[in-house]
Amino acid sequence: MTLYLKFFYAIGLVAGSFIRSTMRKQSKQSKAESKHETKLDIFLVFFQLFGMIILPAIYLVTPLFNFADYKLPVWMGLLGMAIFIAGLWLLWKSHADLGKNWSPELRIREEHSLVTNGVYRYIRHPMYGAHWVWGIAQVFILQNWIVGPATLITFAPFYFYRIPHEEQMMLEQFGESYTNYIKKTGRVIPSLLKAIKTS
Ligand code: SAH
Repeated sequence: MTLYLKFFYAIGLVAGSFIRSTMRKQSKQSKAESKHETKLDIFLVFFQLFGMIILPAIYLVTPLFNFADYKLPVWMGLLGMAIFIAGLWLLWKSHADLGKNWSPELRIREEHSLVTNGVYRYIRHPMYGAHWVWGIAQVFILQNWIVGPATLITFAPFYFYRIPHEEQMMLEQFGESYTNYIKKTGRVIPSLLKAIKTS
């Protein structure tokens, strides 16, 4: 398997973890007012790390999964790198826009405000979008049938379980403001139709 691609993924992992830990420190400055996460939600947060960090880490440092390697043309690897950089940017930008309102769990913070600017102006879940982008890039970068699609597979249950619960929580907290916000935005893909309707 091409070494520079593996190396690139490792650097991306460090960059992604750095973004997360910096934001985690910042968000700890503000306390949670109410907690809405279930045990399944917490389990799924960790399960998703399995595909994004644990399996890739094993693949990067051991030959355990090498039997399942596939080989893509060089340009596809480069495309994967570009997609990965876009995903990292979106991860950073969504954290920056959400600021102190962010929490990895489903929580409403003290002085929680509804963010509708920055990337949140176009989509309601850019942070989860960043995970999808990362997952797509991983298929091109880690060319292995077990590790390549791992984030897409482990993130999907989290995403489909989390979204309805999170939107329900936001609706209860912000009422009409969130209903109006839904009318203007897509979940992870900007909605041209909604943009036209509300303009
Ligand atoms: N789903 C969003 C945020 C993920 S972090 C995204 O993908 O970008 C999860 C926390 O963010 C939730 O607990 C909720 O409290 C908070 N949150 C989600 N959307 C928000 C918004 N538009 N404004 C403020 N807080 C939000």
